[in-house]
Amino acid sequence: MPIALEFRRAGIHLPDLGLWLDPREPKTGDELVFVSHAHSDHIAAHREVILTEPTARLMQARIRGSRIEHTLRFGHPVEFHQGKIPFRITLLPAGHILGSAMALVEAVGGSLLYTGDFKLRRGLAAEMCEPRGADILIMETTFGLPKYRFPRGDVTFEQVIRFCRETLEHDETPVLLAYSLGKTQEVLRALNAARLPVMLYEQAFKLTKIYEQLGQSFPAHEEFDAGNTRGKILIWPPGATTQNLRAKLGKARLAVLSGWAMDASCRFQNRADAAFPVSDHADYDELLEMVTLVQPKKIYTVHGFAREFAHTLRSLGHNAVAPGWHEQMALEL
Ligand SMILES: [Zn+2]
Repeated sequence: MPIALEFRRAGIHLPDLGLWLDPREPKTGDELVFVSHAHSDHIAAHREVILTEPTARLMQARIRGSRIEHTLRFGHPVEFHQGKIPFRITLLPAGHILGSAMALVEAVGGSLLYTGDFKLRRGLAAEMCEPRGADILIMETTFGLPKYRFPRGDVTFEQVIRFCRETLEHDETPVLLAYSLGKTQEVLRALNAARLPVMLYEQAFKLTKIYEQLGQSFPAHEEFDAGNTRGKILIWPPGATTQNLRAKLGKARLAVLSGWAMDASCRFQNRADAAFPVSDHADYDELLEMVTLVQPKKIYTVHGFAREFAHTLRSLGHNAVAPGWHEQMALEL
């Protein structure tokens, strides 16, 4: 039996199931919303959500208000009958940040795996990704070009630590530009080997506290205090506030930690002194590996180099397409 699948700018919609996947806008009607993880471009003030416990806790810290939460454990399927067709959903670790989930949706005898943001290599502050086979795969393809093959994480972090030590030796403050949720906690653990004091941006400090309440442990760190940065590494979110920070700190060297560091322009765009490829997304090879692991009959690519990666998959014999937003189709499950 075919079921409808709609790709909208607002999110991916399965109207027959009464289910949205990661919509960006608040859904306050009677439909269910799967929230893959708590990054700000994946959360909104929805009425009724399906998510993991860590995502629920992190989402509560970012979006106030009450909502109906169905907190699911990884690997435990739950049935819902919200739309005209009942379905079963199983959340699987996505390896992106703590609590990040992929959704395996089963209905009318078929299956669909929606990855959300994911990575296959082991991260320092996220569960290991656990893909499963599915008939249909909807995958994020942020780094879907062959030039985005990340070097080994331990080698990159050795370079990050060297950057920090050299900066401190010159009596300057090393500032590592990393997102407050997920990346900061990964960097914090990686810096453990250096045994250097670390200060976190206020929001990152709060989110790290939630990680700790969820049973994660981290090396000693303190909250940002502008008058007390000497001799310390500062982890700060990338963006507009970095120029003020330079003025505030005086002597500082900035390094951006991002998968986009594979592009020479990344350092300049972030007005940083260095750039290191630290990412919580899959690189090109991992995207290909995901397809091998899931063995889908049909693949939809979304985000980043979606068209280019769908083209690559077709050249390898897969049935792959990058849907335009507003595209509607009937899935034969
Ligand atoms: Zn994300």
